[in-house]
Amino acid sequence: MQIRVLGCSGSIAAGSRTTAFLLDHDVLIDAGTGVGELTLAELVQIDHILVSHSHLDHVLAIGLLADSVTRRRSALARPPVQVHALPATLAALRTHVFNGVIWPDFTRLPSERHPVLELRPVEVGQLLELGGRRIEVLSAAHTVPAVGFAVHGEAGAWVYSGDTGPNEALWQRLAALDVAALVIETAFRDEERALAAASGHLCPSQLGRELARLAAPTDVYITHVKPGEVAAVMAEIAALPLRHRVHALESGQTITLGREAGTDVLRQAWPPAAAAGAAD
Ligand SMILES: [Zn+2]
Ligand SMILES: [Zn+2]
Repeated sequence: MQIRVLGCSGSIAAGSRTTAFLLDHDVLIDAGTGVGELTLAELVQIDHILVSHSHLDHVLAIGLLADSVTRRRSALARPPVQVHALPATLAALRTHVFNGVIWPDFTRLPSERHPVLELRPVEVGQLLELGGRRIEVLSAAHTVPAVGFAVHGEAGAWVYSGDTGPNEALWQRLAALDVAALVIETAFRDEERALAAASGHLCPSQLGRELARLAAPTDVYITHVKPGEVAAVMAEIAALPLRHRVHALESGQTITLGREAGTDVLRQAWPPAAAAGAAD
């Protein structure tokens, strides 16, 4: 199993894309502007989109992806792309995105019988089995209903917090999990701690209190930092007394979760995997 970071910024600027991860070739985890890194041929292969919550920086590319792949998936007689999210998140997408005003209703296009998107409700604690991959829905604590995800691999779980503030339920669940890597947000610097608290996000000092709940030393990857803030946020985190190995998550990074020659491996690759050809 391989996870490719398509976008991991809290907002956009040149070189900064919002949250999207590609699991193998066919599962998207969140659909922020990072999805624009994929070629059309890669977009056509996506069969599942797991959505952490309804905020624009995580859902913006769902409708655009649908628009891009409709013709080719129809020609290939591919089934609808399944969009997995909490019922409240799906309701928000129906009401506020796929409403014929902001964007066409791709759950009924190109035809009601064979739409390009299908909305599938999930709940916290559910274990999704997608083509042999097991993905668990984790709780998150944000300003709207939100979840994180754990991708279970033979070498442990790759865990993505989603957008979240302090989250007791996450640490209770992770205490019973073999966590190979934790991707967790830190959206604001400490000087903006009031804004972080009000908006359901973490700042470095709060991250430190949260990570103290994770007993085993773990590779922790920081995500969702605003453009231009990464160095400052990472410096504040580096000053914390943490037992974990903390890194800034980087767009283009690939993480392989699997077992090789009988040895558990979690391998990160830099520089980013070579970009696929631009022809498509
Ligand atoms: Zn959010
Ligand atoms: Zn966000």
